[in-house]
Amino acid sequence: MGAQFSPQRYDHDVKLVVTGTIGIDTVYTPRDKREGVLGGSAAYFAAAASQLNPVRLVAAVGGDWPSDHRETLSSFPGVCIAGLDARPLSRTFAWGGRYFEDVNRRETLFTEVGVLQEAPPPVPAAYRDSEFVFLGNTHPAVQLGFIDQFPARKLVVADTMDLWIRTAHSELTALLKRVDGLIVNDSEAGELTGFRNAISAGKKILDMGPSFVVVKKGEHGAVLMHRGGMALVPAFPVEEHQVVDPTGAGDSFAGGFMGYLAREERTDAAALQSAMAYGTVMASFALESFGLDRMRILRAAEFQQRLSDFQQLARVG
Ligand code: AMP
Repeated sequence: MGAQFSPQRYDHDVKLVVTGTIGIDTVYTPRDKREGVLGGSAAYFAAAASQLNPVRLVAAVGGDWPSDHRETLSSFPGVCIAGLDARPLSRTFAWGGRYFEDVNRRETLFTEVGVLQEAPPPVPAAYRDSEFVFLGNTHPAVQLGFIDQFPARKLVVADTMDLWIRTAHSELTALLKRVDGLIVNDSEAGELTGFRNAISAGKKILDMGPSFVVVKKGEHGAVLMHRGGMALVPAFPVEEHQVVDPTGAGDSFAGGFMGYLAREERTDAAALQSAMAYGTVMASFALESFGLDRMRILRAAEFQQRLSDFQQLARVG
């Protein structure tokens, strides 16, 4: 078990786990460029979720993984990195992306799969009692393979993205039959279902298996759909100059969402709706910096303040 998890900060057991990628990112925004940024679905998720509940991480990295990235990840007291599989002879997953002037839009410049084309990272025996499982973005066949390795699971939620929708559609269809929830953005929901409209896409996704789906609509908020109805949240209002790098905002949303559910030990519809607010506020912090810089210095009181501001802003009726 990594020394990074300090149980004294929490008064209950760790039960949240994330599987996914650790990436070395290259990011171009309209005003800036960064290379060698610590990213990946599991890294962003874990940094965000750990603000609310301890989280166990399962991911692989190669021999080229910078030691300062390890130090950064280890600096989050709630992130357990015992499930980080370091492979000296392999290369870390690398991703490059460019944002347009409208930062809701980005293009992938390159994806170097590296360790992703090898065997998935093993799940440590100590993680098998995890109850809240988040399958961060990676190949859907790998996501599927993780599910049965968590026999105590109470809630399994997955994320996916355009690359997998295009290249692994049948594996993704199989995955959807096994998960409780899916978190996607509107363009991914559109690609997956053929519907541009988030409500129509959401309904179709429910028909594909999950009992709930969250469709994120960038600066226009997010929609939760489940068998009993739906719920909406706006995005937290941020000004243009506050958006430094949107990379990882989606994974941070998921981290806030799952971190809240794990902390509350709830999976009911009302909790899912509240979790949307936690995810939204967490994402609003993530986009204030490249990589995990903002998450590293986020204080609980700051999060709480923004959450209550958001609750006031979003009040209806
Ligand atoms: P997000 O902005 O929330 O969609 O997440 C972006 C992060 O996902 C980046 O840090 C990338 O390293 C990582 N990423 C990009 N493409 C993929 C992919 N195909 N599979 C898994 N992770 C990816």
